[in-house]
Amino acid sequence: GAAAAAKPTVYVLDKFQPAVIEYVQDKFNAILPGMPGHEDWRAKAQYLLIRSSYLTAEDVENSPNLIAVGKQGVGIDKIDAKACAARGIKIFNTPGVNARAVAELALTLACSVARCVGTINRRQNAGQPVPKETCSGLILHKRPIGVIGMGNIGKTVATIFRGAYEAPIIAYDPYMPADAWSDLPHTRVSTVEELLRASDIVSVHVPLTESTRNLISMKELKLLGKEAIVINTARGGIINEADLETAVKEGIIWGAGLDCHEQEPPTFEKYSSMWQGNILSTPHIGAATEQTQIETGMAAARYLYEFTQS
Ligand code: NAD
Repeated sequence: GAAAAAKPTVYVLDKFQPAVIEYVQDKFNAILPGMPGHEDWRAKAQYLLIRSSYLTAEDVENSPNLIAVGKQGVGIDKIDAKACAARGIKIFNTPGVNARAVAELALTLACSVARCVGTINRRQNAGQPVPKETCSGLILHKRPIGVIGMGNIGKTVATIFRGAYEAPIIAYDPYMPADAWSDLPHTRVSTVEELLRASDIVSVHVPLTESTRNLISMKELKLLGKEAIVINTARGGIINEADLETAVKEGIIWGAGLDCHEQEPPTFEKYSSMWQGNILSTPHIGAATEQTQIETGMAAARYLYEFTQS
């Protein structure tokens, strides 16, 4: 009828939770993957809904009608934001909505690395002996945590570590205003170097950009102590992986927890050598809770829909 005809059309490029699809089909004329005509999205789409697909400069160039993109999650590094901006194409991502899930994984990785849970579990499950004297770990109580990038996830991580371990918080984020985090006791530093010198645990929560690529390499790792733990739940490439592997294997630092890798998904072929050290690795599961997938998917769809109605 007339109401149905008035619905905006959205091309959905990825799989979304059923609750999200239900919302999208209610509010939009939704062309889902596999539906007739879906493959013509570049020629036709005004609106796109994306979770993990790329949107390259070439895609943008071949999408003359594109007006706006809803993006589940906060990272937009797979979307050519520059090409979108040049055409005035809006991107609606969902900052903040997945902060809890990612921050809780950062904590999970850090305390597991402190107690060498990954290494111990691997040996045990392979039928190897695991004498206790080879399982010595670290107490995290009151160890300072350095948070690089104090946006939604970074702030949540700091809050959790303060609550769990009474951790002093060292914060580095040159883009946040002076009064950011006024509700959370912390020491703010103006360089990564200062942060590394003051921290036992370092957790990165910045986007991957040209200025954050290799933000932490061997030179930076050497500023940490041999009981230091490095956590990356942000993006592969922010911490130089080859240097990190060397630093852990040579005992320059204690260990590392990585949810994000230079190659994703992280394959056994590429990473089995790294995984022999105290490096606990997960395949980009920071936001992988059903609750988070529903909340972030709904937010992306809702922001996009509200834009079509504005
Ligand atoms: P956010 O935008 O709220 O915070 C990012 C912060 O980084 C901002 O405060 C910004 O000022 C700061 N920043 C930017 N460049 C910086 C630099 N060079 N040095 C220091 N600080 C800098 O984003 P968020 O929600 O906290 O997410 C952080 C990152 O986590 C995302 O960009 C994304 O790549 C990643 N992420 C990963 C997962 C996962 O599944 N592992 C899920 C969600 C997000």
